[in-house]
Amino acid sequence: MKPRAPLHERTPLWDSLPLAEACGARVLLKMEALQPIGSFKLRGLGAAASDAVERGARRLVASSGGNAGLAAAYSGRMLGVPVLVVVPRTTPEAMRARIRAEGAEVVEHGAAWDDAHARALELARDPATAYLHPFDDPRIWTGHATLVDEAREQGPKPGAVVVAVGGGGLCCGLIEGLERAGWSDVPVLAVETAGADSFARSRAAGRVVELESITSIATTLGARRVAEELLARTRRHPTESLVVSDREAVEACERFAADHRVLVEPACGAALAAIYCRLPFLEGRSPILAVVCGGAGASPELLARWKRAVGLA
Ligand SMILES: *Cc1c(COP(=O)(O)O)cnc(C)c1O
Repeated sequence: MKPRAPLHERTPLWDSLPLAEACGARVLLKMEALQPIGSFKLRGLGAAASDAVERGARRLVASSGGNAGLAAAYSGRMLGVPVLVVVPRTTPEAMRARIRAEGAEVVEHGAAWDDAHARALELARDPATAYLHPFDDPRIWTGHATLVDEAREQGPKPGAVVVAVGGGGLCCGLIEGLERAGWSDVPVLAVETAGADSFARSRAAGRVVELESITSIATTLGARRVAEELLARTRRHPTESLVVSDREAVEACERFAADHRVLVEPACGAALAAIYCRLPFLEGRSPILAVVCGGAGASPELLARWKRAVGLA
């Protein structure tokens, strides 16, 4: 049988003059914001969904109030299978509407992602149904790794890679891609916002630590605990952890919109902030490869609201 074409798009690699100007090194932007759903999530979830359907799944269930839910819904539409997305109460109506517009059913359960996740697992029990985890699944990491395969064809070996970390699926995939490319020596800067810094805390403790609650504006980074595998991979791969403020992340969103006419979530702004703020770690590591992870939960109205919330407006 002919292998199915991937559901994600090949994204461009932009040689960014404004970011180079800001940080004093060449900066290459892997433009995941340009995926049809607005984020890289389609790489991993699209691969996992395709794999599940190929193995006979006739229904998909996901849990996420955000980009993973949207990726699952889009994948189901492309594959012609029904999708159910369990979202927590905190999921904004605009995101629910986007998920529904893809043809998926949305049901609300619980106050936080963990509750929605538990309910989704129950709803996915029958054998014809596959559960798509938003970040903790090897198929998802392998799907995300394709962004490095592309970057390798599109540009030079980077001196460092900057990436945002939520539950760690993207970072696990990134490291997998770097190893596959023979770039095991390229250091990764893993960025979170204060209040969603579950990786930084886990790394400091040497084991997975669970956050009481998520207090950052970057809700997309708000996994209370990271995948165990993230700790394992970042132990064997040169990795630095950085925590930026919500204000720095939002400021980066605004600058990036002005510089490149692309609106991204604070989750993505966090990674860009490391470059805009000229982080010493990046010095002498040209070119810097930045994963512009994107996010469909961004709009001009929300950017204005985030700016007010962090005292920038
Ligand atoms: C999911 C997501 C992240 C975090 O990815 P993890 O795999 O959970 O670490 C960052 N930015 C955006 C836009 C996302 O959708």
